[in-house]
Amino acid sequence: MLGINGSGQEKKSMLAVSLEVLHKAADRLGLDQSMRNILSKPQRILSVAVPVRMDDGSIQVFDGYRVQHSLARGPAKGGIRYHPEVTMDEVIALAMSMTWKCAVVNIPYGGAKGGVVVDPTKLSIGELERLTRRFTSEISIILGPEKDIPAPDMNTNAQVMAWLMDTYSMHKGYSIPSVVTGKPIEIGGSLGRLDATSRGLVYTILELVKKTGMKLEGARVAVQGYGNVGSHAAVFLQELGCRIVAVSDVYGGLCNDNGLDCKAIKQVAAETGTIMEYKGAAEEIPREEVLEVPVDILVPAALGNQIHGGNAHRIEAKVIAEGANGPTTTEADRILQDKGTIIIPDILANAGGVTVSYFEWVQGIQSLSWSESQVAAELERRMVSSFNDVYERAQREDVDMRTAAYLIAVERVAQAIKLRGIYP
Ligand code: GLU
Repeated sequence: MLGINGSGQEKKSMLAVSLEVLHKAADRLGLDQSMRNILSKPQRILSVAVPVRMDDGSIQVFDGYRVQHSLARGPAKGGIRYHPEVTMDEVIALAMSMTWKCAVVNIPYGGAKGGVVVDPTKLSIGELERLTRRFTSEISIILGPEKDIPAPDMNTNAQVMAWLMDTYSMHKGYSIPSVVTGKPIEIGGSLGRLDATSRGLVYTILELVKKTGMKLEGARVAVQGYGNVGSHAAVFLQELGCRIVAVSDVYGGLCNDNGLDCKAIKQVAAETGTIMEYKGAAEEIPREEVLEVPVDILVPAALGNQIHGGNAHRIEAKVIAEGANGPTTTEADRILQDKGTIIIPDILANAGGVTVSYFEWVQGIQSLSWSESQVAAELERRMVSSFNDVYERAQREDVDMRTAAYLIAVERVAQAIKLRGIYP
């Protein structure tokens, strides 16, 4: 379970990190060994080979996975990512994390995740569509609005979800929009889903600000990753008066001590595929340095395991709001706790996406649609109350917010398993 990260540091796999956090919570909750065994294993793993006819006539076969970690609290829910570094272990860890995420915000789902080992930037649009349709076909045996509901994740978007929905519907012979969330609005998507993760993240930061008396006006912010989560978070935080001093994507970093124009950078990234084509006032820095710029708030919104034992000492942020899934290793977590850094953990901070996915699913099942303001108000209500549950538990038990979030989530899932009992 060991690997080497970009800086040559040895690091643990995301699954090893997830299991450590689970066992820490299980120890505190006094869970017995059989419950730990159930919680630490995914319920189902489907591994598939996905043959795709490429534009040049050749056939390439991609590896894909769909993992359902738990179905105890409801149908499995979680995104599908396309990335060259996807591994089965990582998909298991991410599925497990979805179980806790859905439990911490108390929505009636278990956790799942899917992934295909592919670099989508190397595919034409036609190849991407054929890959998505064949992958959907292969995993369709375990999908369904009451079984397992995918959504976008890294490098997948509303268009990919539309192809998934269409493929699944073609198999069944009629339209089944509720098999997937994060769809285009025109075919049953929800208003407010696109920026829901970032909006939810900002609600948790606003709550923390209320508790700590910290000021958002003029607060210095760095954002790692400028995809759907990072770019919207940067824009929202700028609108709230923060100074976004550093941002990065896979190609590099930009910084400006007086504040970057986040909207303009988002526009450039949408048009050219990278923030590095931005020609406005900014200095270029290596992308890893974005984490180490002196800031009040750091938002990691890229791949997992980016904050590790090798760089945690150099992170100066007072608050880390985890937009990404699993951005911080256990060792880094310890180093940051010792420094007094406040971390809003991923399963809470980025739960806004799956929360609005739940609203989309509910709207789909009821064949009605909510207004954007209704979605935002309901999201705010749920994020604020979940944040407060976690914050209060952390205070009461004198633990950090990650531990508190896991205590709440693991307790809820364990309780569901206990109530349902073991079949047969
Ligand atoms: N991929 C997102 C996440 O990691 C959203 C999942 C969903 O909406 O089902 O939370």
